[in-house]
Amino acid sequence: MVGRTAIVGAGIAGLTARQVLTAAGMDVDLFDKGRGPGGRTSRRGIDQWHFDHGAQYFTARAPEFIQAVNRWTEEGHTALWEPRIGSLMDGEFLESRGSVQRFVGVPGMNQVAKRLLEEGSSSSGSTSFETTITTIRPGWFLRDTDDVEYGPYEKLIVTTPPAQARALVPQESSAQVPLIGAEADPCWALMVALDEPIDTPFDAAFIRDGSIRWIARNNSKPGRPDAESWVFHADPVWSDRNIESTPQEVVDELTAHAGDLLKPWLPEGFPPGIRAVAHRWRYAQPRSFPGNTLPDDFWWSPEENLGLCGDWCCAGRVEGAYLSGLRLARRILDAT
Ligand SMILES: Cc1cc2nc3c(=O)[nH]c(=O)nc-3n(C[C@H](O)[C@H](O)[C@H](O)COP(=O)(O)OP(=O)(O)OC[C@H]3O[C@@H](n4cnc5c(N)ncnc54)[C@H](O)[C@@H]3O)c2cc1C
Repeated sequence: MVGRTAIVGAGIAGLTARQVLTAAGMDVDLFDKGRGPGGRTSRRGIDQWHFDHGAQYFTARAPEFIQAVNRWTEEGHTALWEPRIGSLMDGEFLESRGSVQRFVGVPGMNQVAKRLLEEGSSSSGSTSFETTITTIRPGWFLRDTDDVEYGPYEKLIVTTPPAQARALVPQESSAQVPLIGAEADPCWALMVALDEPIDTPFDAAFIRDGSIRWIARNNSKPGRPDAESWVFHADPVWSDRNIESTPQEVVDELTAHAGDLLKPWLPEGFPPGIRAVAHRWRYAQPRSFPGNTLPDDFWWSPEENLGLCGDWCCAGRVEGAYLSGLRLARRILDAT
């Protein structure tokens, strides 16, 4: 198997890197512990209610990413989301009139990942979901939770959040250095399915104080079912304090807070006949990312044939994850 490349992580960064490498004719095996592609751009469906419970939307500023988003939009995989958006404080909504263009995957945020997965497919590479890599040893060899070993690989790219990468990459590897101090904030996401629409003057709002920092009516995004579906993201401090709570405890507490927030628009209180579930993102968004100190938005060692990429290397968002994967793959191709 010498000459092959392994990528750990089928989020936006890993999928983008794979797409660029396979397009250049390289053989790439991709591993992810999840059931499908997308990582933090996942979506969840509960009957007719659909929720983007991780990334909510993305912006596009770099020419390479704008080009990709234009292509996906032409193909129907992404679309502009134009919500009534602003900030919410003390029961008052203040609409924001900025010119930010917000894009979403259609019909769910994970559509970008699905498209990248298709674009990067090749007959000579494999994709393994529900495969948690537990150890990596130089060579490169990967081992999963069932004790199956994969390898040897000539090159290895690790795209997991830094805390997980630190545990995976061999302690003696120089890849440990850029990972020092790269931390992420957690986020509890609450998904609420309602039987009836609620008449708010907004579809999404940022909240500056309290336990909830973001709320969005998911069905206001293009291509979603009509069923009234709300996503609430807890504040990082609250999420951290409640990191070991059970999902049911989080549902109970955050639902009460959500009810308080939406009280002015709920004639009979909240929640009448709702269903709610909670999801914990342990590493939701980079807290202190070394993007400023990684000059190329990724890390690559030609001596070790080992690379790191992901949102934490490049501004911490969907666009950053794309650029990080793209630029690392291009560096590898330039050197071969
Ligand atoms: C609640 C929340 C809200 C957000 N809101 C926004 C937003 O509005 N706009 C925006 O642009 N961004 C937002 N983001 C951030 C955005 O989702 C990320 O920046 C981006 O998706 C990161 O992509 P990535 O490929 O770097 O990492 P990930 O998506 O985390 O991909 C890493 C992959 O590695 C896999 N993995 C981890 N460990 C292992 C292992 N041991 N073995 C195998 N696989 C493994 C994971 O399953 C995952 O699929 C949000 C994120 C969260 C969680």
